[in-house]
Amino acid sequence: MPQTNEALPREILDSGTKLLLDLCSISSASGDVAGVRAVADRIATELARCGLAAEVASESDDEGNPLPLLVARGPEAGEHPLLLVGHLDTVLDAVPPRIEDGRLWATGALDMKGGLAMLVAALDLLASRGERPPADLMLVGVPDEEVGGTISERAVRRWGQGARVLLVIEPGERRGDAETLVAGRRGLFEWKIEVSGRAAHSGLAYWQGRSALGAAADWTAQAQRMSETGAGVTVNAARLVGGDTDFVDGLATNHALLGTSRRRNVVSDRAIAEGEARFLSAADGLRILGRLQRLTESTAATHDVRMTFSQGMSVPPVDPNGPGAPVVRRVMQLAADRGWRLEVEDDRGGISFPNYVADPAKVAIVDGLGPVGDGMHTREEHLDMRSFERRIVLLADLLASLAHRD
Ligand SMILES: [Zn+2]
Repeated sequence: MPQTNEALPREILDSGTKLLLDLCSISSASGDVAGVRAVADRIATELARCGLAAEVASESDDEGNPLPLLVARGPEAGEHPLLLVGHLDTVLDAVPPRIEDGRLWATGALDMKGGLAMLVAALDLLASRGERPPADLMLVGVPDEEVGGTISERAVRRWGQGARVLLVIEPGERRGDAETLVAGRRGLFEWKIEVSGRAAHSGLAYWQGRSALGAAADWTAQAQRMSETGAGVTVNAARLVGGDTDFVDGLATNHALLGTSRRRNVVSDRAIAEGEARFLSAADGLRILGRLQRLTESTAATHDVRMTFSQGMSVPPVDPNGPGAPVVRRVMQLAADRGWRLEVEDDRGGISFPNYVADPAKVAIVDGLGPVGDGMHTREEHLDMRSFERRIVLLADLLASLAHRD
């Protein structure tokens, strides 16, 4: 196999770099509808040139504002496309881009206009090899990812579940000499416990009291200790409120009690704690849920109080050992064939595109295909142009290898 620099003709790197500079010159912070639309239009034009049917549609967000949504399809992109997903918006407004010492300093260079320009250049590279992009290729570019927008979530929900492969062109990370690919993302569920104890005067009748606060504190301390380093399982207690019932249930008006001596002589009869648990596989999620429920029963018994546990909103995990694993291995091999090393991030933090798929356990998902850099969401944001070059070749190689179903 030829090395990367031989694998990418100069003119394709130049036109890809030019496109990237153009995209970074357009200010497209989330909510800047005209700017986001300009980015969408520019990429749609490029993808049409590459032979995809590209359109910039309007989608309404929660407030009914129309935002641009870029959808580009190969001739056979049906119900089970080879789906690429990215976002068009940035966190900050654009500043004039500049390339210095092999780095592009620009808003969105890393997150993630680099990934969008990479895709266009990869399609150009395929064309220069006389190859077509996979016929079922589909790109969805969303306008509101950086604000956790509903259009992003809806678009991935709509097209992600049926995808034969879901490739996310968000950036990887630098790790020493290597770069990373993202194979897993933790899911989460929110939880809440409510405790009722028995109030008593702490001086006169302490032993008749049953402290709800004591039980809730015991529960949260034990729940947090269920976190497993290295396994991706964490339990976080975000809030714990205890005291007398009047204080807890009327917290908004009674918070001025804090710091005073009033009602400190009351054994707490009411407590509420709430937080979340995160995990890398659906099985881990069920296991931790079961442990928290059993902990609730045992803590209630120990403290002789009433305790209820409830599960709230949940987000499914992307399991690094799920259906995406073979594609991840293939991408790593393709990089190795070109003489560089990719490592796997099993557990990237945060909730992102892959978590929006209704059941990620059924879809082959690979994230972090975009070029690396640093300073995401800051004025120090920059992209490693060497990585941009490598990843154009990597994506072209990957698309070629996925073009023939096997
Ligand atoms: Zn991003």
